[in-house]
Amino acid sequence: MSLEKDECKCPECQRRAEEHEESEAFGLAVLIALVPIMTLTLFGHIGLL
Ligand SMILES: [Zn+2]
Repeated sequence: MSLEKDECKCPECQRRAEEHEESEAFGLAVLIALVPIMTLTLFGHIGLL
């Protein structure tokens, strides 16, 4: 038998799926926030700021 996680609707699997989506969204937000910080740091090291 095959049990794909997307087909399971029990509270445990729904909670796990939501946490997974939240962690992915959080990781993306962190990545987006890091880009300007890294850019500023890089420019600062080069001496442009
Ligand atoms: Zn389940």
